[in-house]
Amino acid sequence: MGANRQKSVDFRGRYTPEAAGAAVSGAEDPAGSRSHNLLLRRRASLMQEPVLVLNATYEPINVTAVRRAMVLMLKGVAQAEELHNSEVHSASHAHRVPSVIRLLAYRHIPQQSRALSRKNILLRDRNTCQFCGNVFPSSELTLDHVVPRSRGGRSSWENLVACCYRCNNGKGDRTPEEAGLKLARRPRPFTLHTSRQLMRLIGHRDERWRKYLFY
Ligand SMILES: [Zn+2]
Repeated sequence: MGANRQKSVDFRGRYTPEAAGAAVSGAEDPAGSRSHNLLLRRRASLMQEPVLVLNATYEPINVTAVRRAMVLMLKGVAQAEELHNSEVHSASHAHRVPSVIRLLAYRHIPQQSRALSRKNILLRDRNTCQFCGNVFPSSELTLDHVVPRSRGGRSSWENLVACCYRCNNGKGDRTPEEAGLKLARRPRPFTLHTSRQLMRLIGHRDERWRKYLFY
């Protein structure tokens, strides 16, 4: 069950603060090593929860994970603007988990700062196979060259898409037309516009993100 929840958090931004709160307090399921394991797993998934990153000017610039956000806070690079109702416990302290953080120094964000990488392509395509339209965990997706490399297709934002193994095998060394496949949408570079759309998509579930994203 925990694993399922983690999947939906990671790939669809479907998470509820209530669920995260219940996760760390471990209210359900009484003692025993099984519930201890469950607790650790839930804590791990809490550390993966999305955190909205604001520039010093309050402009939303990125989404990161709780783990990374807490490192930035500890380094004094960022401060929490909104908090989760959950805590993580170290040996001596309980730390409130951030939901929104803000960088203390202004950072210039170039218009196209996203590197062409597998991770960013999966993010752009929202872990959705661009041929069958199904959502998969990252481990079950590959990158497909829309125009195959053997036919001169390049490794570029416009020619690489997220693709499940099944569709990838079916397509083989052919163009989508030849294989009778249709792209869900035309692949585009990952722009600031794309990141903002993504932030809104994820932020829809979190009240605390709203005032920074919908204006
Ligand atoms: Zn597919």
